[in-house]
Amino acid sequence: MGDEMGLMAINSSRFRDDFEALAKIGSTNDGGVHRPTFSEAHRMARTWFLERAYAAGLQAEVDGAGNHSAILRCGPVGGPTLLLGSHLDSVSHGGRFDGALGVLAALEVLRVVQETGLALRFDLEAVDFTDEEGTFSGLLGSSAAAGILTQHELENPRGGRAALLSGLELAGLSESGLLKASRDPSRLAGYLELHIEQGGRLEAEGVDIGIVTGIVGLVSITLTFIGQADHAGTTTIERRRDAAQGACSFTVKARDLLMGEFPGCVANVGSIQFLPGAYNIVPGTAVLSLEFRAPDAERLNRLETALLELARDEAARFDLELHIASKGRHAPTLMNSTIQKAFQKSAEKRGLKHIFMASGAGHDAQAMAFVCPAGMIFVPSIGGASHSPRELTRWTDCNHGANTLLQAVLELGR
Ligand SMILES: [Zn+2]
Repeated sequence: MGDEMGLMAINSSRFRDDFEALAKIGSTNDGGVHRPTFSEAHRMARTWFLERAYAAGLQAEVDGAGNHSAILRCGPVGGPTLLLGSHLDSVSHGGRFDGALGVLAALEVLRVVQETGLALRFDLEAVDFTDEEGTFSGLLGSSAAAGILTQHELENPRGGRAALLSGLELAGLSESGLLKASRDPSRLAGYLELHIEQGGRLEAEGVDIGIVTGIVGLVSITLTFIGQADHAGTTTIERRRDAAQGACSFTVKARDLLMGEFPGCVANVGSIQFLPGAYNIVPGTAVLSLEFRAPDAERLNRLETALLELARDEAARFDLELHIASKGRHAPTLMNSTIQKAFQKSAEKRGLKHIFMASGAGHDAQAMAFVCPAGMIFVPSIGGASHSPRELTRWTDCNHGANTLLQAVLELGR
C-alpha cells in the first residue's frame, strides 16, 4: 500500500473508477451532473455510496438528518471519531467535482486504512452531508450534525417551506429527526474535508494544495436610496434628487474602496432596482442588494463601516435619504491550527507545493467548526470554473488531494 515515496497511498485506479461511476448518476449531456437534494439522482447517488461502503466491508449509517456515512472501527472502543467528508448533492446543472470528490476521497482513505489494518487514536467516518448546496437550506445536514440547526431555519428555508417538507417526505426524513441529529461533541475528534477550490488562484500560481485558514464571513444588506420622482424632461439636472445617481455612484466607488483599502475582501452589488422605473421619470427610489465578505471579523466590521459611510456620503451628495436593512450575517470561521499543520506536514512529506488561503465559498466545515476542530484543503479548479458543467480538476491533483487527506489522517491519528 506504499507509493514511490515510501508513503501510504490511496488506490488511484479504484478512486477514479468510483469517481467515474458516481459522475454517471444524474449526468447531463454537457459533461456535468444534476443532483439537487432529494432528487431521484441524488437519492441514487447516496444509495450507491452506501453500497460501495458495504462492498468494502465498512459499516454504513444514515442519521436523522439523512447524512449518509461509511464507518471504520480503527480506534479504541468507546473512543472518538474523526469525520471526513463533503456532499453528494449538486447545484442545478452543476459539475462532477464539487462535493463528490471529497466524499469519495474520504471513502478511499477508510478503505486504505482498513486494508493496512492500522490502529488509530480514533474511528473514521466518511460522511455525505445533506443539502450542502442549499436546494432547501444550505449546510442543512452539517448544521444538524453540529447542533446549530434551529426550528426557525426549518420554518424559513431558502427554497421555501412547502418544498422542504415534500423533500423530507420523499427522503423519509422528518423535522424532528433533523433537530435530533446533533452529534455528541465529546465523541468527535475533528472534521477534515477535501474540496475543489472553485476559484482560479491555485492553478494560476502553480500550487498543488491550498490549506484553508478560514471560511470568510459574509454580510448581506439592502440599501435604499430615496430621492424624488420627477418629470425627466422638465426637471433640470441640477434640481433632481435622482436615486439612481446615488446607487450607481456608490457601486462604482465601492470597487475603488475594496481595491485600495481591503485586499483579500470582496463586495458585490448583485442588483439595483429603480422605481417607479420608466424612461421618462427620474428614479425616486433605488433599491440595491449589497453583499460583502472578509476573512476575519476585524476586517469584516471595518469593511461594513467603510461601505456604509460611503453609502451615506453618496446619498448626501445627491440629496437623498438612505435606509439600511440587514439581510443576513455569517461570522468568519477559523479552521483549526493543529489540523492546518497536519495538512502542511502532509503536503511537505509528499513534496507538494502548498499555500495557506481563505475560502471565499461556504462549506460543511463551517458548520462542523462549531462543535469540533475542523480543517479543509483545496485542489486546483481549472480556469476557476465551478457550479458549472465546465468544472474540472486534473486527475493528478485529485490524487494529490486524496493522498494529502490520507496523510493528515495518519499524522493526527498515530
Ligand atoms: Zn461543495
